Amino acid sequence: MLKYGFGGKILRINLSEKEYKIEKFSSSWIKPLIGGRTANTKILYDELDFECNPLGEENILIFGIGPLTGSILPASAYFTVTAKSPLTGILGDSAAGGSFGPEMKQTGFDQIIITGKAKELLYLLIKDNEVEFHPSSNLASKTIIETTSYIRQKHKDYAIQVAAIGSAGEHQVFYSAIVSSGNRVNGRTGMGAVMGSKNLKAIAVRGSSPVEYANPVILKQESEKIQTAIMKHNEYTKRYNLGTTMLMNDLNSIGILPTNHFQEGVCKYIDEISGEKLASTYKVKNKSCFNCNLHCSRYYICDNKEAEGPEFETLCSFTSKIGSSNLPFALEMNLWLNQMGLDSISTSEVIAWIMECQERGLVQPEELEGLELKWGDTEKVREIVKKITFREGIGDKLANGARNLSLDFSEEAQKLVLHVKGLDVINGDPRGIKAYGLTYAIASRGGDHLRAEPFFELTNRKEEAKRRFGTEKAADRLSEEGKAALVVYSEKIALLTDSMTMCKNIGLCMDILNFENVSNLLNACSGLNYTPDYLQRIMKESIDLQQKLNEKFGITREDDTLPERFISETLKQGPTMGSTVNIEKMVDEYYKLHNWKS
Ligand code: SF4
Repeated sequence: MLKYGFGGKILRINLSEKEYKIEKFSSSWIKPLIGGRTANTKILYDELDFECNPLGEENILIFGIGPLTGSILPASAYFTVTAKSPLTGILGDSAAGGSFGPEMKQTGFDQIIITGKAKELLYLLIKDNEVEFHPSSNLASKTIIETTSYIRQKHKDYAIQVAAIGSAGEHQVFYSAIVSSGNRVNGRTGMGAVMGSKNLKAIAVRGSSPVEYANPVILKQESEKIQTAIMKHNEYTKRYNLGTTMLMNDLNSIGILPTNHFQEGVCKYIDEISGEKLASTYKVKNKSCFNCNLHCSRYYICDNKEAEGPEFETLCSFTSKIGSSNLPFALEMNLWLNQMGLDSISTSEVIAWIMECQERGLVQPEELEGLELKWGDTEKVREIVKKITFREGIGDKLANGARNLSLDFSEEAQKLVLHVKGLDVINGDPRGIKAYGLTYAIASRGGDHLRAEPFFELTNRKEEAKRRFGTEKAADRLSEEGKAALVVYSEKIALLTDSMTMCKNIGLCMDILNFENVSNLLNACSGLNYTPDYLQRIMKESIDLQQKLNEKFGITREDDTLPERFISETLKQGPTMGSTVNIEKMVDEYYKLHNWKS
């Protein structure tokens, strides 16, 4: 019987029948999963019809939290949403911080599993053990903030937390997002479209169930150690001041800031679009997710509009990646994307791909209903992002994602889409960060860094690299040596972080979590007798399960690779000039370390 840390219950909601049931789970089921992403993946593996249409009622949408969500542990505010992805057709999931996860914890449900499709647009209100189905045709086309305010006002409860979709999700844009706490985005792999396909505008949670911990004194002590490690970290001040936007200058200084769709890695107008420029010109205060002492998020006012963010990915997506030095435009896009619910990386990939293809003469305007996009043409970008949001005109095709769009064009044009397994790669050029390149290639949800976040390769900690990964080269960003070992280690810590539902800025980028301190935290929380060795074993089992899951979707070793550009084209200037990624060698080593067949 589960007594500590977990609510111990799964809520199953059938939208077609407007019914729900509550299931209890055992400690033997949850112990090897911990929670969050691992538990969601297991449910998907066990219950999904793999052949299903991701936007059909058979797809399963799972919201998951973990034993430490919303606890005294700093930055433990995350929740993961999982389903078959409409963008990639394989495992889809995305995590976000804010306050939704901690409030969900108070309902007593560790997982919410949604099946079926509502006959009309509705939102769910989950209050402790009660679930209410509220018809909400009046919320159609409402922004995420409007939806959140409406639900809070209607129920006269301003502590309700809401995870909602905007117009992009309602129109099932394949890369639409779910947004909570105003700007906390489950952005990747189109989880907003899955919600839209089920006619589910929002999930609102409010709970009052107390959570008991096995050893609250030890949990407090261990959490304080993490808190101190954050405060004493050598990057604390920089991360506090700039958040992830510090990466604009950091990546530019090593020649890997995506510029004009990864054709260049050094941006000439960096000073106009950097995190420092944003902070000094528009930032008005810091903000944070629930119980985080880093406060890395920033609130800004620009052109009489106020909003939170943007994170690095959005800032880069709507500046250098599309050839724009217009910082206020990027801030405007940040607000639009967060209110309409769109993933910034995939949205900008569609735009930047068209820009490059048109520059090279591979795609003609008349083939895109007259659309002509040139680097830095923010007026046109604004127009086209709106069309994508509502699937208007040519926006309807663009809303299916860059890879799908490219299928109407030549092989040469198709090769220019920068994706892995259908998911557009994040904004960091892998030619100058080889472990990241390997991570994009092997990530079970497609071209993404968060499956391992091997930030260690940027730290230059040579002795530590030798001790942990057998070679100093693991801390050399341009080397491929030791990177498979680094990624195999980091992906376990990344999965642990997602299972406990902590923030990866802290868990991995700041290198604060390890198997020892996580087992101490989990034991104090749950009393389930975790050990570092056991954690390593169950993380490996969960990574194997993701692999098996993607095999069911038809993914093979050949899909674990990078776009041609990163393998065979060099950057022509800057500190990463001349470098390409020998991805096959690294993937082979990675498979060997996992004992997987190539
Ligand atoms: S570090 Fe930033 S993103 Fe992470 S939990 Fe703290 S405020 Fe949220």
